[in-house]
Amino acid sequence: MKTIAVLGATGSIGASALDVIARHPDRFRAGTLAAHRNVEALTALCVRFAPDLAVIADASFEKELRERLRDAGVATRVASGPAALIEAASDASCDTVIAAIVGAAGLESTLAAARAGKRLLLANKEAVVMAGPLLRAALDEGGGELLPIDSEHNAVFQCLPAERSGLDAAGVRRILLTASGGPFRGRTRDDLAGVTPAMACAHPNWTMGRKISVDSATLMNKGLEVIEAHFLFGAPADRIEVVVHPQSIVHSMVEYTDGSVLAQLGNPDMRTALAHALAWPERVEAGVAPLDLLRIARLDFEAPDRNTFTCLELAYRALASGGSAPIVLNAANEEAVAAFLDGRLAFLAIPQVIESTLEKTPATPVTALAAVLDADLTARRVAQRIIAAAKV
Ligand code: NAD
Ligand code: MG
Repeated sequence: MKTIAVLGATGSIGASALDVIARHPDRFRAGTLAAHRNVEALTALCVRFAPDLAVIADASFEKELRERLRDAGVATRVASGPAALIEAASDASCDTVIAAIVGAAGLESTLAAARAGKRLLLANKEAVVMAGPLLRAALDEGGGELLPIDSEHNAVFQCLPAERSGLDAAGVRRILLTASGGPFRGRTRDDLAGVTPAMACAHPNWTMGRKISVDSATLMNKGLEVIEAHFLFGAPADRIEVVVHPQSIVHSMVEYTDGSVLAQLGNPDMRTALAHALAWPERVEAGVAPLDLLRIARLDFEAPDRNTFTCLELAYRALASGGSAPIVLNAANEEAVAAFLDGRLAFLAIPQVIESTLEKTPATPVTALAAVLDADLTARRVAQRIIAAAKV
């Protein structure tokens, strides 16, 4: 029996994870559920899953959570605040941690789970982008294992040999990350001038949280994923290629030196990656409909439009600069996306804010968590000033 801490339980990945967990009560148990401030949703999950511990990251909601759980007759313990998240991620009561908090807010709990030697199911790509080398060191220290949940990286993981000996030793030439192209594939810059949050969040193939939905619309999601692939698989940037594949059936591919290309296919449903990583190396039912290739009939591939969607280029540039540049890229993006979702920034200004923030914030070497957090904070301040000065 695996006892699992779901950090980000009330989100889109959290829901998919809990769906898979609920299908296998003989194998999996949700021991900890954590969320930001949605007390109502967290209470409902506690009623359904009866975890040992519920963590609410915004401590001002702790009292309300306690009262709701008491009224519902649920015996779950309650903790609150960012420190409680870190504790929950490293607590001996769980052996598996699902890192499904969105953004930099998930960084420290993700690192804590790695350091504590948990099986770490990683959805929180921002944590890898910000602190790839620190995460690797934490995994080595803890002796646990990382299983990627991001569908592309989960696909790559499945297409690589089980023996993790480095790309060259494995005969890998390139990693091919597929991208749906998002809701605005095929559009020009002029078409994108009046894009609203509702339009940006209407993804053709996946239902996801709002931040990652906007990232998919700007292609920054793919940019973050290139950096994620670099750190997770030790691949240099010039061996990671992005291929637009509108059907989202091929989740990604690995090309070998002998000309073989291995792909992982499936319906676009995150429960496949979650079930794979929860049960690995075994396989369990995920509730995902079987792939009907005859109905899909065709799979298309095209090059990304790097002129319209400049975020992808900015991410490659940040990866090449190294040091704090990916942290700055991520922080500026989080600030710009939040401002866009708030109606304070135009869609087309998102890459402009990120580019200006990168220009104004020279990359510095980063070797410790304090430096990561410092670079993140500094970049956010710079980005906020640029956003305040931008016209909506
Ligand atoms: P979401 O917005 O649906 O859910 C986010 C979760 O994080 C919620 O449970 C929320 O309570 C929690 N959270 C937010 N801020 C927090 C804070 N300060 N402290 C503690 N908890 C906080 O997002 P999502 O779509 O589930 O995405 C989660 C992560 O998974 C992101 O990093 C995203 O990039 C990644 N991811 C998501 C998908 C997907 O299909 N949704 C696919 C691949 C990767
Ligand atoms: Mg992805």
